[in-house]
Amino acid sequence: MPELPEVETIRRDLLPLVRGRTIVEAWVSENAPRLIQLLPPDAFCRGIAGRRIEDISRRGKYLLFNLHDGLIWAVHLRMTGRLLHRESGCPEDPHLRASFRLDDGSSLCFVDMRKFGMMWLVDDESLVVSKLGPEPLGEAFDLRAFRDLLKRRSAPVKAVLLDQNALAGIGNIYADEALFEAGVRPTRAANTLTKPAAQRLHGAIGKVLAEALGDRGSSFRDYVDGRGNEGSHHLKVKVFRRTGLPCYECGTPIRRIKLGGRSTHFCPKCQK
Ligand SMILES: [Zn+2]
Repeated sequence: MPELPEVETIRRDLLPLVRGRTIVEAWVSENAPRLIQLLPPDAFCRGIAGRRIEDISRRGKYLLFNLHDGLIWAVHLRMTGRLLHRESGCPEDPHLRASFRLDDGSSLCFVDMRKFGMMWLVDDESLVVSKLGPEPLGEAFDLRAFRDLLKRRSAPVKAVLLDQNALAGIGNIYADEALFEAGVRPTRAANTLTKPAAQRLHGAIGKVLAEALGDRGSSFRDYVDGRGNEGSHHLKVKVFRRTGLPCYECGTPIRRIKLGGRSTHFCPKCQK
């Protein structure tokens, strides 16, 4: 699933390509019954047609297209969603779920194999993103706020990192990587982290996300950027999907467990 670095890469790719462009026509596949939230698909298509794209912002893993009259087109890619800019129409693809023709002849094409992706057209973004926690790369996410969050929670620290209402944008890859970077075991109860451990984890989250963003994200399976190219950060991960391979720090085989239904990777020696 695309996480903060991947969604932010897509935002940065798409912005110069679509800013100032008007959506001339929208189409939603009948084979994507859960794609459009809150509105019937035909009302969504009618409502978005004729609107100019002023800007694209991001909250957590949501892309927010700011349209000229205050409407927001929100997109969540979920598992396998891809939002691609194509110079002409969307190429034939059995997984094409929606398309948006722009006034310069280019198109935004939403391709989604697993069909978990979601879109909204709303006049108030809080209808979509109001419950999200702070941005981990934003100023509101300082060490004090992070320690307060950890102190309130007795759940495993990894589950807290994955909770979008606690912190927005972190998923399975970067939770595992940040916990390794900080030397913290994913199963440890959040409220048992010492101040130095919380400090290391706070720094590790920022470092891991910024590095992944610099590498244009990680392409383990489905993720591609706004032009259809892969990121490269998956080549640099230290624990994620490295089960049984030697830890880069100590040589101990990386372990994989299930935690809250999610695969979790860690070094049993380096992470305490
Ligand atoms: Zn190790």
